[in-house]
Amino acid sequence: MKPLPPLRKVIAQHGLSASKALGQNFLLDGQLLARIARVPGDLNGERVYEVGPGPGGLTRALLEAGAKVVAVERDRRCYPPLHELAAVSDGRLRLIEGDAMNVDEAAEAGVGAHIVANLPYNVGTALLVRWLSGEAWPPWWKSLTLMFQQEVAQRIVASPDSAAYGRLAVLAQWRSLPRLAMKVHRSAFVPPPKVMSAVVHIQPKPAPSGVSPATMARVTASAFGQRRKMLRRSLQSVPGALSALERLGIDAERRAETLTVEEYVALARMLDGSNSNQDTES
Ligand code: SAM
Repeated sequence: MKPLPPLRKVIAQHGLSASKALGQNFLLDGQLLARIARVPGDLNGERVYEVGPGPGGLTRALLEAGAKVVAVERDRRCYPPLHELAAVSDGRLRLIEGDAMNVDEAAEAGVGAHIVANLPYNVGTALLVRWLSGEAWPPWWKSLTLMFQQEVAQRIVASPDSAAYGRLAVLAQWRSLPRLAMKVHRSAFVPPPKVMSAVVHIQPKPAPSGVSPATMARVTASAFGQRRKMLRRSLQSVPGALSALERLGIDAERRAETLTVEEYVALARMLDGSNSNQDTES
């Protein structure tokens, strides 16, 4: 790619003062951005879907890694610098001008694309839940590399019996492998947010057989909706859940946060009417 002006200059030239409402905290350190772009592995020739390119720092790193990028940005002030970047990208950057919540991502980015984003905090969790909740599995995306507030990242990778363990951990772990790829100090952002951040990398794994995502969602919503209560109480609104616990030998006096992801899968499978204990690739 042709040399580009420094990101600070791009921000100044286009008057991109950070908007809190749009969750704007920009990354300008080229080395850090290159490290993030390496998290999904070798992106040379791979397709990437990016949410919220802003002034284009991460987008530059993804293009420099050889990726073909489809990026969706809501802030129209960012369109001129992103069009300038697209112009020197040899056709490898396409900008969607709009709200990521309304994009048909699989159609725009194509099946098999990686998702890489420094997510706006206001829609970050909602997008993650959408990407992890699809009925079809494996999903349309190949991997997720996402920057979150560190507290959210910890909830994604949390183990049972920890304060961070909850619905998000079960959702992220029952048919995916999440890992904390790197922590990012708040001082790396312009402006610096109040809290630390972390990049999470998530890869899909084979889905357990005989379990529907809807049942997993229903069971975990009820269980963690009253996480301090015993399962006997928190799951009483889920038809068949108490007898399923008994048949599985799970003590109904336990609390939601003590059940492993595998125990939630077994519970949902029994509710879905299958006694199969075998996990098979879907
Ligand atoms: N990728 C840039 C970086 O790393 O410096 C900017 C990241 S900033 C945390 C989040 C970006 O998401 C901002 O550019 C913001 O305008 C954009 N954004 C916020 N809400 C959005 C939405 N609903 N759809 C698309 N982009 C959005």
